[in-house]
Amino acid sequence: MRLASISVDLDSLPHYCRIHGLPESLLDERARTLVHAVAVPRFRELLDGLGAPGTFFAIGEDLESDPGAAAGMRAAHEAGIEVASHSHAHDYALTRRGLPAIREDLARADAAILAATGVRPEGFRAPGYTLNADLYAATAEQGYRYGSSAFPAAPYYAAKAAVMGALALVGRPSRSVLDTPRVLLAPRVPYRPDPSRPYQRGSGAVLELPMAVTPGVRFPFIGTFATTLPLSALRAAWRACRKDAFFNFELHGVDVLDATDGIPPELVRQQRDLRVSAARKLERLREVFGWLKAECDVVTLRDAAGRLSTSL
Ligand SMILES: [Zn+2]
Repeated sequence: MRLASISVDLDSLPHYCRIHGLPESLLDERARTLVHAVAVPRFRELLDGLGAPGTFFAIGEDLESDPGAAAGMRAAHEAGIEVASHSHAHDYALTRRGLPAIREDLARADAAILAATGVRPEGFRAPGYTLNADLYAATAEQGYRYGSSAFPAAPYYAAKAAVMGALALVGRPSRSVLDTPRVLLAPRVPYRPDPSRPYQRGSGAVLELPMAVTPGVRFPFIGTFATTLPLSALRAAWRACRKDAFFNFELHGVDVLDATDGIPPELVRQQRDLRVSAARKLERLREVFGWLKAECDVVTLRDAAGRLSTSL
């Protein structure tokens, strides 16, 4: 049977302010913790209803600054959900900081997750999906079983480049980092990376589980699109992936939030999917998760890595 994983990046709203070049002072205390306080329980309910586990990628800093977030991750872990690392500071330029600083960031994230859940994370997703040799080396040193950072999607790359160009033009440069186009040549199925060029195949110890993109046009099958595109387009993208032995569905906490949850209008203007009601997005996700469940064994990324590692 095919394998599928559902993973959720728990980027809190301050990280969205940074990516859109907006001041974090827009966020009150409730908005700062909204992803953990509101989106995490909604995802827990979705996964419970599905009867399948998922993987939460937590940011270390968020767990340290918000006791509610740490408690939520412990409860998730106890319910069989994997809690993996999404770095400590979610620095979009992490790959450029040099190995010692990267090492320190990853170790701090691990400590925060260990303190919250009682176990060390076994998987890692890079902030902004940007991977290089230094970051790959650090993930190997941390002893992770897998990474899930490669996002080899052409349309996504083009959209990100366009948005960053537009922000620079209006004098509001984004803190996001545009990844090397080499990522577009990365395998779209699980592989063992070359440690010196982690977007290429090699014999590295840490498996890479790329996020789902369709074969051919490499349309990214991610939460933002799953919640906002016409159902027919999404169904076609899902069918296009039917020959893949593994389907890695990546989402974000904000994929189950909307403007009425208390998100500042300035941020809603930039993050257009927040205008779609959470009720509608939840309904859509219930349906799409159902497709995965009907055709695949839905497991955590950690378990997927364990099962795939023997053949890679
Ligand atoms: Zn992120």
